[in-house]
Amino acid sequence: MIRVTELRLPVDHDALALEAALIARLAIRQPELIGFTVFRRSHDARKNSALTFTYTVDAELHDEVSVLARHANDPKIRETPQMDYRPVAVAPTGFNRRPVIVGFGPCGIFAALILAQAGFRPIVLERGKAVRERTLDTWGLWRKHILNPESNVQFGEGGAGTFSDGKLYSQIKDPRFLGRKVLTEFVRAGAPKEIMYVAKPHIGTFRLVGMVEKMRREIIDLGGEVRFSQKVTGLDIRGGAILGVALESGEHIESNHVVLALGHSARDTFHVLHAAGVAMQAKPFSVGFRIEHPQSLIDRARLGPHAGNKLIGAADYSLVHHASNGRSVYSFCMCPGGTVVAAASEPNCVVTNGMSQYSRAERNANAGIVVGVTPEDYPGGPLAGIEFQRALESRAFELGGGNYDAPGQLVGDFLAGKPSTVLGTITPSYQPGVRLTDLSQVLPAFAIDAIREAIPAFERQIKGFSMHDAILTGVETRTSSPLRIPRGDDFQSINVRGLYPAGEGAGYAGGILSAGVDGIKVAEAVALDCLKPAT
Ligand SMILES: Cc1cc2nc3c(=O)[nH]c(=O)nc-3n(C[C@H](O)[C@H](O)[C@H](O)COP(=O)(O)OP(=O)(O)OC[C@H]3O[C@@H](n4cnc5c(N)ncnc54)[C@H](O)[C@@H]3O)c2cc1C
Repeated sequence: MIRVTELRLPVDHDALALEAALIARLAIRQPELIGFTVFRRSHDARKNSALTFTYTVDAELHDEVSVLARHANDPKIRETPQMDYRPVAVAPTGFNRRPVIVGFGPCGIFAALILAQAGFRPIVLERGKAVRERTLDTWGLWRKHILNPESNVQFGEGGAGTFSDGKLYSQIKDPRFLGRKVLTEFVRAGAPKEIMYVAKPHIGTFRLVGMVEKMRREIIDLGGEVRFSQKVTGLDIRGGAILGVALESGEHIESNHVVLALGHSARDTFHVLHAAGVAMQAKPFSVGFRIEHPQSLIDRARLGPHAGNKLIGAADYSLVHHASNGRSVYSFCMCPGGTVVAAASEPNCVVTNGMSQYSRAERNANAGIVVGVTPEDYPGGPLAGIEFQRALESRAFELGGGNYDAPGQLVGDFLAGKPSTVLGTITPSYQPGVRLTDLSQVLPAFAIDAIREAIPAFERQIKGFSMHDAILTGVETRTSSPLRIPRGDDFQSINVRGLYPAGEGAGYAGGILSAGVDGIKVAEAVALDCLKPAT
C-alpha cells in the first residue's frame, strides 16, 4: 500500500472527488488503482478559511514499486507502515494458568480481550454491575439523589468512560499502532466506522453501552469469565510474588498473574494494596470546576461563518493558562453539546464530569476548568492525594445542600467574588440539581486565584468565555489518579512479581484510548510470562 498525505478537498465534495484527487496526486491512470481507504480525515474550520477536509489515504496499486520510485522525493507519498495487530503469544491447547484481571473498564476490557483472543481464558473480576443494571443505578443518583457506592459512574461494566463523550484520541506515543487495534475492536463491537479515520473520533455514551456488552460476550465465547459484583478486597502475596486474590464474598482465586486495572477511584482498594506492601507513590493531578456555555457561543467563536455546519459538527476547545501564582489552569475533557454529570462514587461526596451523546446536540458545551496540584499540596504519603480529593468533594456535598446537588455559581459572580442567588440565561445541565452558592469555599485559595485569572484570559481566545451567565459547578477532582503504582519494564509491580498495575488507576493512562492501549501492552506481557515454565 502507498500512503498519500494532505489531499485537500472542500467538505461538501462528491463521492468521486477523493479518488480523482488521489489519481492526480499519484500521476497514475485509473486502472492502475486497485482501491483505497481513508487513514485520517481532519477538517480545517478556521474562521476565515474555506471549509476543507484534509485526507491521508492508503492506496493499493498494481505496481506500487515503480510509483514509489517515481515519487521518491515527495515526502507526502510513502509506503504505508505495517499497522495490523499481531498477537505476541498464543496459549497451547488446554493451557490452564489463567490470568486474573481486576476491573472491567477500557484497560481491563482490552487486557481481557487480548488474552482471550490468544487463548488464555482470563477471569475478570469487576466490583460493579453489568452495564444495563449499572445504568439504572447511575440514574438513581441523577434522578433520585441515591448513590450506590458499588455501581455508579466510576464503577461497573465499562469502567469510568461508559457514561462519557467517548472521545477517542490521545497524545501517547504509539509506534505499534495499538490504538488502531482498540479502534478496530470498537468498530467490530458497533462503533461508527468513521472512528478509524476522523481526527478527533468520539462515540457518545449511548453506543458505548452496547459495545461493552458485545466485547464481554466475545471474551466469554473465547473461554474467559466476566464476573460482576465481585470486589477484590485482598491480595495473597508470598515471597514477593502474587499467588491470588481474595473477594469480598470470602472466595479466594488463585493465579500467578493478576492485572490491576482499577481506575482512579478505587480508593478502598488502593488502601488494601498499600497495606499489603505494594509499592506506590503520590502523583500530581488536577482539581477545579465544570464550566457551561451555550454551544452556539462556542461554535461562533471557534468556527465563525462555519458555525452550525452539520458536516463538521459542534465545536470543541482546548485551553491552557499559566497563572501568575505558578499554577497551570487548563480545560479538561471538553464535551461539545453535552451534559455535566454527577460522577461521585463515595457517599456524601459531590464530583462533576461531562458526557455527550454521539449527536452532541444538547444546548450547552461543558468542560472542566482545572488547576494542577502536586504532592507538595498534599504531603503525607502515597494515599494523601485521596484525602485531599475527598475533603474537596465533601465540601462540595455540603455546599450543594447535602443531597448530591452540586454547588454552582455564575461566572460573573465568581469573578466578582460574590455568591450567586439566581440563574441567568443558561440552565445548568447537572442532575439531580444545582444549588447556587459561593464556589470559592470549595477549592484552596491558590486554585481559586488561578481560575479567576484564567477565565478572563480564555476570553481572549473564545469570545464570550467569561460571560456573566456561564455556569460553574463543582467539584472536578477525578481528573486522573492521585497515585502511581510503579512497574518495571516487564509491566510487573516493582516489588510484587506477577502483579501488573495498569491503566488510569496505576498512573499509566489518561483516557479511554490510552487505557485500552495500556491494557493491550499489559496483556502481552502477561501472555509472555504465562508461557514461561512455572517456578
Ligand atoms: C463522566 C466521565 C467522562 C469521561 N469522558 C472521557 C472521554 O470522553 N474520553 C476519554 O478518553 N476519557 C474519558 N473519561 C476518562 C476515562 O473514562 C478513563 O480514563 C478510563 O475509563 C480509564 O480506564 P481504566 O480501565 O484504566 O479504569 P476505569 O475505567 O476506571 O475502570 C476501572 C474498573 O475497575 C473496577 N474496580 C475498581 N476496584 C475494584 C476492585 N477492588 N475489585 C473489582 N473491580 C474493581 C471499577 O468498578 C471499574 O469498573 C471520562 C471519565 C468519566 C468519569
